[in-house]
Amino acid sequence: MELTVLGCSGSYGAPAGGACSGYLLRTAGATLWLDCGNGTLANLQRHSPFEDVTALVITHWHPDHCADVYGLHVLLKYGLGRTGFPVFAPAGTEDRLATLVDGDWGGAFSWSAVADGDAVTVGDCGLRFSRTAHPPPTLAVEATADGKRLVYTADTGPDWSPQAFASGADLVLSEATFQGDDGPSGAGAIHLSARRAGEAARAAGARRLMLTHLWPGLDPNASVVEGSEAFGREVLLAAPHQRTRI
Ligand SMILES: [Zn+2]
Ligand SMILES: [Zn+2]
Repeated sequence: MELTVLGCSGSYGAPAGGACSGYLLRTAGATLWLDCGNGTLANLQRHSPFEDVTALVITHWHPDHCADVYGLHVLLKYGLGRTGFPVFAPAGTEDRLATLVDGDWGGAFSWSAVADGDAVTVGDCGLRFSRTAHPPPTLAVEATADGKRLVYTADTGPDWSPQAFASGADLVLSEATFQGDDGPSGAGAIHLSARRAGEAARAAGARRLMLTHLWPGLDPNASVVEGSEAFGREVLLAAPHQRTRI
């Protein structure tokens, strides 16, 4: 299993090519695109011909996780003449996003609504979903293939944790929007600090932790120090185009 970061900027695009959330997960029998935030379709094409992508998962309908669905729609409809491309997303996403295409996706996508506790299989990859602590319906994703397991937190506040899945994931890819214990990352918040991401991954017995979705302008090294201290060992930091073997 290999994870390629297509974009990891938290909430809005960062300078110098900082696309928003998107990841490519390659297994022996599937290529999954997890979140299509702004800038990720362009970056995806540096790593894979689009024709090789098996399916798209949209964790929630905040634009930094789904805005490139519109470019993808154009690519499928006019570029590739393709219909029925599989998309897994929380119920309501299809209609919510359809306003900008006048309510008609033209059959480009085959939408499957997924919800908390659901499990689906795409190629050789098993996916499970868990509702996080984030305002629109938001689903964390667990991907299992090749004897390995990835947990992607999507966006969440501290009232959800990777412990919603079985402990001991090979890699937890966790949002870590903020820093410190105070301010917008406390209980009831809709995002995590690097410290809270580290604590949660440690409690969930994660083998490795990668921080992502950092707020643009924050010093990423400070997030790594904070997250590593809480996790108990060095964390990884997501960066555009970075590939990680899981
Ligand atoms: Zn986000
Ligand atoms: Zn969000």
